[in-house]
Amino acid sequence: MSTNQPMFNKILIANRGEIALRVLRACKELGIETVAVHSTADADAMHVRLADESVCIGPPPARDSYLNVASILAACEITGADAVHPGYGFLSENARFAEILEAHNLTFIGPSSNHIRIMGDKIEAKRTAQRLGIPVVPGSAGALKDEADALKIAAEIGYPVLIKASAGGGGRGMKVARSAAELPIAYATARSESKAAFGDDAVYMEKYLEKPRHIEIQVLGDGKGYAVHLGERDCSLQRRHQKVWEEAGSPALNAEERDRIGAVCAKAIGDLGYSGAGTIEFLYENGEFYFIEMNTRLQVEHPVTEAVTGIDLVNEQIRVAAGSGLSFRQEEVKFQGHAIECRINAEDPRTFTPSPGLITYFHPPGGLGVRVDSGVYQGYKIPPYYDSLIGKLIVHGRNRVECMMRLRRALDEFVVDGIKTTIPLFRDLVDDQDIADGRYDIHWLEKKLAVDQ
Ligand code: ADP
Repeated sequence: MSTNQPMFNKILIANRGEIALRVLRACKELGIETVAVHSTADADAMHVRLADESVCIGPPPARDSYLNVASILAACEITGADAVHPGYGFLSENARFAEILEAHNLTFIGPSSNHIRIMGDKIEAKRTAQRLGIPVVPGSAGALKDEADALKIAAEIGYPVLIKASAGGGGRGMKVARSAAELPIAYATARSESKAAFGDDAVYMEKYLEKPRHIEIQVLGDGKGYAVHLGERDCSLQRRHQKVWEEAGSPALNAEERDRIGAVCAKAIGDLGYSGAGTIEFLYENGEFYFIEMNTRLQVEHPVTEAVTGIDLVNEQIRVAAGSGLSFRQEEVKFQGHAIECRINAEDPRTFTPSPGLITYFHPPGGLGVRVDSGVYQGYKIPPYYDSLIGKLIVHGRNRVECMMRLRRALDEFVVDGIKTTIPLFRDLVDDQDIADGRYDIHWLEKKLAVDQ
C-alpha cells in the first residue's frame, strides 16, 4: 500500500491465542507497532512474546482480564495505542465496548457500534436483512406475543417450526416443535432458557429446516457505501453448533450460485454502509438460501477464504478502520482452488473433554499449500481457563481432490504430544466417503459421532 494514506501507529490486540497472533502478523506487515494484553495465566503465551509491548490486564478468568474494559482502556493509555483489534469472541461483538473506545478517541477495528447492535439482536438483524433484500427463513415478523400467536403463525408456516431466542447465541434458547401439540412446551422452554441465559425472554419463530447445510458469505464494506463479497464457506460439519471443519468453496455450490448470493450480500452490505469484515450466515436447502444471522467480526474460519482469494482479511479490516478503504474492487477478486480448515482442539477426540496441560513435543506440518495458525509451541502449558482451540490447519489445493490429498498428508505429519487433541478425528473424516463426496448436512457429524460411540 502507498505510504501517504492514513494508518495507525500502534494497535492493541484485545485477544489471546492464535487470533492474537494472526492480527499481530498483519500489523507487522503493515509496519504498525503492536501491544499484546494478557491475563496472568498467559504471561508465556506466544502473542505476548511476539508483540512489541505487552500489558498484564488481570487474573485468569476472562471476565477479569480479556473482558475487562477498564483494564484494556488503561493499557491503551499506558502504551499510547491508537486503535484496538478485538479478534473474535471476547469483546468483538460488544457494541458498548466500541462506543467506549470512540469516546476515548481510540479506533475500534470493526463496524460501527450501531451495526454491531442491530446484528446482535436476531429479530432486528432478520428484519434488516429482509429489508436489504437478503432471503430469510419464513417465520414470525418479530417477537411472538403469546402462545396463541405462536400457534397461529406455526399453522401458517407449517410444522416443524423452531422457536429461537432474539438474544440468542451458541444455540441456546432454541426449541423445535413438530406439531401443535408440542408447541406450547417448546415455546415455554425456549422463553425460560432465553431468560436464564440472556436475561431476555423475547423469542421468535422460524420454519425448521430438516437437512440444511450451513453456508456463509464473507463480506467487506468500506463504510462509505461500497462492499465486496469473498465467496462462501461451508461450515456444515458441526458438533453442538460448533464448527469443526470448514471449506471454501462449498461442495454444494457452483460458481454461478456463489456469484448470485455473493452479489446480493455485497449490495446489501454496501447499502447498509457497513464498515469492515462481516459474515452473513445462511442455511441452504434445496437450492435456496435462508439468512440466520450476521457476525460483525473476523471469524475463526476466515483463512479458507484467504487461501482461495489471496486477500488478507485482517489487513483489509485495518485499512478500512484507518480510512484507507479497501485495497481492491470486486472485479479483481479471483477464486482459486479449494481450501479446508480443521479446528484443532485440546480435547479428547472421542469424548471432547478438554485436555489442557504441557505440550511436550510440537511438530506442525508444512509444505506447499499448508498453513498452521496456532499460538502454541513445544514446552507451552495450555491453561485450563479458555476455549480449547489450540490451532487451525488450513490446506489449499487446485481443486477439492488435491486439497483432500494434501490434508491427509498434513494430518499425518502433525504431531502434538503431552495433551490430547482432535487431530485423530480429522484423520477419520478425511478418509470418509461422504466427506470425499461432499455429501453432508449440519447433522451429519453428530450422527457419525453417535454411531462411532
Ligand atoms: P446461535 O446464534 O444461537 O448460534 P443461529 O441462528 O446461528 O443461532 O443458529 C445456530 C444453528 O442452529 C444453525 O447453525 C443451525 O444448525 C440451527 N438452526 C438455526 N435456525 C434453524 C432453522 N430455521 N432450521 C433448522 N436449523 C436451524
